[in-house]
Order: sequence, then C-alpha cells, then structure tokens
Amino acid sequence: MKRREISFSSDDKEICGVSGCSKVPKRSIPRKRVEKVGALNLRGSNRKVPLCSDCYRIFKKETKKDRAMESLGR
Ligand SMILES: [Zn+2]
Repeated sequence: MKRREISFSSDDKEICGVSGCSKVPKRSIPRKRVEKVGALNLRGSNRKVPLCSDCYRIFKKETKKDRAMESLGR
C-alpha cells in the first residue's frame, strides 16, 4: 500500500495578506505598519499581515523611502 502524502495545511493555507497576491508569506508585519505605507492593498483584518517576499520587498522599499523623506524634511 502506497502511503499518501498528507498536507496539513491544504485547507487553510496561509497566503500573502495583500489582495490580488496569493503567494506563500515569508513574514508577518503588524497591520498598522503596513497600512502606514499605503502602497499595499490589504485584505482581511488581522492584526498581523502575512507578506510574501515580493510584497515584503515593496513594503521595505516604501518604508525606506518614507524614512529618507522624513530625514530630508528635517
Ligand atoms: Zn504578496
């Protein structure tokens, strides 16, 4: 008898919290921080937003830009 592969997370597979994106999340970012960036359209209402590597890169890029602008303004 061949053993079937069991995937535990097939039903509630975690996907990226950005709407339109269904990749596997790499990190969880507090929702407030992601919302502050504004570049990403989030779905759901969890406190922490799972982000895939691509969306995390966007998030990181935007936060960097934010910080750079802040320091320039002062
Ligand atoms: Zn994503």
